[in-house]
Amino acid sequence: DKADIGVTGLAVMGRNLARNLARNGQRVAVHNRHRERTDDLVERFGGEGEFVATGSLRELVESLERPRRVVIMVKAGPATDAVIDELVPMLDTGDVLVDAGNANFTDTRRREAALAERGVHFVGTGVSGGEEGALHGPSIMPGGSAAAYRELEPVLRSIAANVDGTPCVTHVGADGAGHFVKMVHNGIEYADMQLIAETYDLLRKVLGREPDEIAETFRGFNTGRLNSYLIEITAEVLGHVDARTSRPFVDVVLDQAEQKGTGRWTVQNALELASPVTGIAEAVFARSISGQPGLREAAADLPGPSEQPRIEDPEGFVADVERALYASKIVAYAQGFDQIQAGSATYGWNIDLGAVATIWRGGCIIRAEFLDRIRAAYDQNPGLASLLADEDFRAALGEAQDSWRRVVATATASGVPVPGISTALAYYDTVRARRLPAALIQGQRDYFGAHTYRRTDVEGIFHTEWAADRSEHEA
Ligand code: NDP
Repeated sequence: DKADIGVTGLAVMGRNLARNLARNGQRVAVHNRHRERTDDLVERFGGEGEFVATGSLRELVESLERPRRVVIMVKAGPATDAVIDELVPMLDTGDVLVDAGNANFTDTRRREAALAERGVHFVGTGVSGGEEGALHGPSIMPGGSAAAYRELEPVLRSIAANVDGTPCVTHVGADGAGHFVKMVHNGIEYADMQLIAETYDLLRKVLGREPDEIAETFRGFNTGRLNSYLIEITAEVLGHVDARTSRPFVDVVLDQAEQKGTGRWTVQNALELASPVTGIAEAVFARSISGQPGLREAAADLPGPSEQPRIEDPEGFVADVERALYASKIVAYAQGFDQIQAGSATYGWNIDLGAVATIWRGGCIIRAEFLDRIRAAYDQNPGLASLLADEDFRAALGEAQDSWRRVVATATASGVPVPGISTALAYYDTVRARRLPAALIQGQRDYFGAHTYRRTDVEGIFHTEWAADRSEHEA
């Protein structure tokens, strides 16, 4: 009997994805470069469904029903190319190759184009939700051709997370669109985590609260509009006591945040697209600063504020912080969706932003009720220029903004860094300003470089003779 689908790469993600497929009725051929993982999978989880253990990629391919469907779940980068190069000569026209690893979307575009020439469908697919998600239902973001998606759709729907009867999978767009959207998902995840971390830091340093008390506060937040997986796990981490020292876990962990690179890719791409994802950028840079002990040691003696502001109403401050977090979150997500919109336009993907919000409601790391609100905003107006222009989000920002300003002011006066919260507020004030000092910058550019400017009152391109009589003429 032939297998329905193959999976190569059986580390945590591939193994759990293979189990998820088998549990949902697929006969799954499995393969790993080092055989031990394959045998281990079949030995430990073979009872969960039908597995076909194979010892080589050739054996994997030969075990499959046609058109063959092979999921690659190996380390992103050169390892993925190595596996594709070995597989492709064994495949035929119409076969479907799925890369479910965290590929850079530019690699996916290159691979898709190369394989399309050979008639093999290549489907770069974002998968989010970590190992638990892979097993119980991830959020799945496939790119590639519509024809390839049709081949995969039933099986992807069966293994994806499900919210209110809707599976968290959609055909995002052609070639690298799926991996692009996964990249921005991770960027938003960085921003959201940074905002939550700043909120914790404020409650700790401004109010002097202990981690277990702050855990309680986050549990409270989690019953309201901030309800999300990230807030939930934040409360868990803050409430955790280190067994070795009996101290709060968060106090014994080295405060240097690591990164695997998808946040950096998001910001690099945002610079290419001129898409201002300031919240994601600050989050990536905040991790970078945390990871520079030399810099931090050299700067550790710099003076802080000479006096600390007194907080007269601590519960009022907590309420302000909740509003600042929510408002900043709206901005960070709005920026991320704007980047998807910009990428979609630049790379020709025609991405449905409401559908992206829909598949992020479950399975993935940023899953939250909040995504329902984003979906509703795009349902109401698919051409929305920014989520900030949505009526409900506008109302929420308007209601939050005084609190938001108080929080940034208090943080600044207290010397507590809030790069994520303050950049979100700065973005809000920038985009709503009727006049920006960009006019002055245009003047400076024209002064030193004759770069010219346009006027508010007359059409045309102008230059002022700054070094001479300061007369203006059309350029
Ligand atoms: P790793 O990223 O740690 O990759 C290990 C797997 O890749 C092993 O199966 C390994 O085989 C295989 N591999 C490495 N190099 C090669 C090579 N040159 N040729 C063939 N196989 C190779 O595994 P994960 O399970 O953590 O992740 C798999 C993919 O999923 C990655 O692309 C990752 O970025 C992505 N991902 C991971 C998430 C997570 O939470 N971990 C979440 C979402 C996506 P061997 O056993 O023989 O060494």
